[in-house]
Amino acid sequence: MLPNLNTQYYQYIFNHVLSSLYPVICCNEPATRPIKNRPADVRCSKCLKQHSKLSNTPFRNLRIPQAFAGWAIEESYIRHPKVLTAMEIQKQLGISYKSALNLKRRIQIMACQMMPVMKRLIRKELEQEFPKDWKLPPDGENVTPHVYNKNVVHADTLVLYSMKDRYGRKRHKNKGLTSSIYRSDKLGGEQVGTLVHQITNGKWVLLDSIPNLTANVCGPIIKESLPRNTCLFTDRDYTWLYRIYPNHRMVNHSLKSSDKRFKYSRDRWCQNGVHNQKSEGLNNSIKTAFRSYTFTNPKFSTMYLNEWSFFRNLRCFGLEELGKEKASEIV
Ligand SMILES: [Zn+2]
Repeated sequence: MLPNLNTQYYQYIFNHVLSSLYPVICCNEPATRPIKNRPADVRCSKCLKQHSKLSNTPFRNLRIPQAFAGWAIEESYIRHPKVLTAMEIQKQLGISYKSALNLKRRIQIMACQMMPVMKRLIRKELEQEFPKDWKLPPDGENVTPHVYNKNVVHADTLVLYSMKDRYGRKRHKNKGLTSSIYRSDKLGGEQVGTLVHQITNGKWVLLDSIPNLTANVCGPIIKESLPRNTCLFTDRDYTWLYRIYPNHRMVNHSLKSSDKRFKYSRDRWCQNGVHNQKSEGLNNSIKTAFRSYTFTNPKFSTMYLNEWSFFRNLRCFGLEELGKEKASEIV
């Protein structure tokens, strides 16, 4: 155990997170009164009935002190965009690797359970930012004055743990980024890297682990999270999106230069005020963060990605807002 872990403080943090996101309701009120020597229970202050505060949360049957979980949550929050690995939890808290990984998984499950709530908050925010009558000028015109003061949404993809420089990359079946996450058929053909679809407005972020870049895969993800009228900037991989999203614009990263001395045009990163810089910046920060894990199995990619975006979005929306939105689903 940490030589001077402030158990009381971290217990408070844990209670606060739990009562905000998973409140125990009794007599139409959240029950929060602690019971002496029974850290897993709370008492309703009206009818004095006892309730388990962990039973309907990812922390049920927690075998380590709750303060440890409080510490891990706060540490991940403070550290973001860097991540807290299971190895570090093990070292810092002096528990076994198995318990540390177990704790990490519990936090990841909490993040996954909060994703629908965050998506609702994002949708609400976007509906306000881009009302039904808001429209960009026709494609090809400069959009800069129109998106001034608007929080434009950017979408992009990135690869984590690519097979790029490794032996046995699958070359012929897929194109571009997709080919770098699969091993060749001769060697089993399994997925090694993780292909990440990213939607962001620079503050919040939504990450999805995807098998490839086709419209059938990315379309539903975008449709599920963004209202129709959202102003969305992407690169040329999303040609199919224009029909669904009228305010979608693309930037051509491989625009040819008209001067034959250069291969690419100077404007390849920004055309008519359309650019993709918010995602590019975030791409870097995700890649740097995931380097601390050394490697994650693509099987668990959704858990790791949701954990990362959970702590980013928590900073953006705050615990209280999130709890309020979650509570609204019960009623
Ligand atoms: Zn009660």
